[in-house]
Amino acid sequence: MRIKILGSHGSDLFYSQNGKSHRCQCVGFLVNEHLLVDAGTVASALDFEAQTRIDHVILSHLHLDHIKGVPPLVDNRVGTNGTSICISSVAQVLDGLKTHIFNDIVFPNFFSLQNGHHPYLQESTLKEGTETLLGDIRVTPIHVNHTVTTVGFLIQDDQSAWIYSGDTYQTEELWALAARTPNLKGALIETSFPNEFEALAKESKHLTPTLLAKEYQKIGKPELPLYVFHLKPQFREQIASQLHDLALPSLCILQEGQEIEL
Ligand SMILES: [Zn+2]
Ligand SMILES: [Zn+2]
Repeated sequence: MRIKILGSHGSDLFYSQNGKSHRCQCVGFLVNEHLLVDAGTVASALDFEAQTRIDHVILSHLHLDHIKGVPPLVDNRVGTNGTSICISSVAQVLDGLKTHIFNDIVFPNFFSLQNGHHPYLQESTLKEGTETLLGDIRVTPIHVNHTVTTVGFLIQDDQSAWIYSGDTYQTEELWALAARTPNLKGALIETSFPNEFEALAKESKHLTPTLLAKEYQKIGKPELPLYVFHLKPQFREQIASQLHDLALPSLCILQEGQEIEL
């Protein structure tokens, strides 16, 4: 699977310090050009043609940094006579998306508005621990430990599999599934705060570099490529330095615009 990194941070920020600058964007990962894993950043990172190829979006949870790209993505479809975009997640996330975002107050209800013969948005309820086929990709949501209902995903096709943590603090089930998955080619795991902010990480249910190393170890595959994302932009240099100090040869910090093959 080919994964394009649309956004790899826990917030948006044009970061500029000591002569270095970087446009940090909220999390969004485009798989094989048609399936989005979380949608914090979409339309600002893809041209119109690329956006029209997206037919599936899977959401880990409702926090704004993971969903705010959905409204502009669907808004850009107006007048195109295109097909529907299918939003998939567990029931609590889909219910929240309709209640709090697509409610005809914050944004039009694109689940009922029709684009030709189809609604602009369709929904597909995923069941925790159960595999669902979306196009040519199979996804299995697993509950993780965050402040709101959140799932990580096992994402597979016929050749390979990878694990996506969503936002999480210390958790177990996702790593156990990773441990018993053959063809596992990588783990995308969040790390939000530097080690000095461990209390904040615990309260907000996120990881620090030290906590990340412990979670990664639980998979029991020391050679497994580890891709880190969701750095809070204001701490990115500090977190990167602490990740480097972990001395894990397979660790890579994901960057906007990067593409990886898993
Ligand atoms: Zn987040
Ligand atoms: Zn979150």
